[in-house]
Amino acid sequence: MKTIIIGGGAAGFFLAINLKEMVPGMDVTIIERSQHLLNKVSLSGGGRCNCTNTFQSVEDLKNVYPRGHRLMKRLFRTFGPQEAREWFEAHGVRLTAEPDGRIFPATQQAQTIVDCLLTAAARLGVHIRCGEKIAGLDTLGDYDYVCVTTGGQPYVTGLLKWLADAGHAIEKPVPSLLSLSIDGHSSNLQNMMGVATEHASVMLPGTKFRTDGALLITHWGFSGPAILKLSSFAARHLAECKYHATISINWMGQNDDTVHSLLRETAANNPKKQLANAVPQGLSSRLWSYLVWRSLGEAGGLCSDLHGKRLNKLVNTICNDIYSVNGQGPYKDEFVTCGGISLTSVNPATLESRVMPRLYFAGEVLDVDGITGGFNFQAAWTTAYTVAKAICNKN
Ligand SMILES: Cc1cc2nc3c(=O)[nH]c(=O)nc-3n(C[C@H](O)[C@H](O)[C@H](O)COP(=O)(O)OP(=O)(O)OC[C@H]3O[C@@H](n4cnc5c(N)ncnc54)[C@H](O)[C@@H]3O)c2cc1C
Repeated sequence: MKTIIIGGGAAGFFLAINLKEMVPGMDVTIIERSQHLLNKVSLSGGGRCNCTNTFQSVEDLKNVYPRGHRLMKRLFRTFGPQEAREWFEAHGVRLTAEPDGRIFPATQQAQTIVDCLLTAAARLGVHIRCGEKIAGLDTLGDYDYVCVTTGGQPYVTGLLKWLADAGHAIEKPVPSLLSLSIDGHSSNLQNMMGVATEHASVMLPGTKFRTDGALLITHWGFSGPAILKLSSFAARHLAECKYHATISINWMGQNDDTVHSLLRETAANNPKKQLANAVPQGLSSRLWSYLVWRSLGEAGGLCSDLHGKRLNKLVNTICNDIYSVNGQGPYKDEFVTCGGISLTSVNPATLESRVMPRLYFAGEVLDVDGITGGFNFQAAWTTAYTVAKAICNKN
């Protein structure tokens, strides 16, 4: 029996190793178009590889998988985050969890995960062919099973086009997990580069898209978890409006009444101070000065003068600060693709194609993607294991 796996990334390797462990007699070959195996794993998590998550603070999978949460819920019953952790520990990788739930190798080096996968594949006798780009399955030759683990693709070209022509439904690929470029010249935002706030809320007015979390001001606009999450949930919407949109920032993530009371209290406690020097709890002094300047101009006058319209204006700037998004941010720190092979084209229990028997899909090539936090690698491990098990069950 012979299995060909197209794509030497996280899903391809995890599939190959598990299949060889389940069916030792299976001849397994990974075909990779580049010379770099597991390239994204080695770059991932800022070089540390956030390989999964404890999921302890995840109440509902739809909060972390904007696409594919139902499929993940189903497949986690067989191979979920706990099984992934046990798998890596059993294959010699000690893991460590951070307080926010993200899991990394204890070495804090992505190379540990790369080495684990490369070593296991070599030990099990997985064949690897690099530098071969597959554009259609008709040229593959003799095989019993084919697995497509080609990752996210920005366009429906090459193999994805071939699969579409063969009858697979494709959800149009668009980028997810982006920072946003802001028209900052008018707002002096550029001068605020490097400033962060821990508990912001961000939304796209007129839509249902709203997320919370830390926000970072960069030299091109906004980044940080709140923005990446927004770009994930609103991935299609942002692509449709060509990344031109209005964004509202609530810098403290609090409602108007709470911020109103906080500012009144701060002003009452510091009547003789310049407003810009009376920093309320929860904001950095740089961000506060900027917000005062943006709302009231310069230092904002004396605290004792903060009442009526001036107070309302400042509250509004803190809670509903409007900017114009004018594009994607320049760096793709943890970029993933929303879209790919539609889940309507695969059997949800086995991930076998409904169009071509003995053809399977795993990883980001499927229309499954998560927010940052290790959820994308978890999807790769889970879907790859599912395919290995499905092929094993046929043998
Ligand atoms: C910079 C960066 C950092 C990231 N950090 C994290 C993180 O810390 N945690 C997390 O959960 N997720 C992270 N992600 C997302 C994560 O890397 C992906 O979701 C994951 O790698 C998907 O695995 P995959 O095997 O499906 O696809 P990939 O890892 O993209 O692998 C697909 C492979 O297929 C090959 N290929 C494609 N087409 C063909 C073809 N036609 N023929 C032959 N070979 C082909 C590609 O060259 C590639 O090697 C990060 C992504 C990026 C870009």
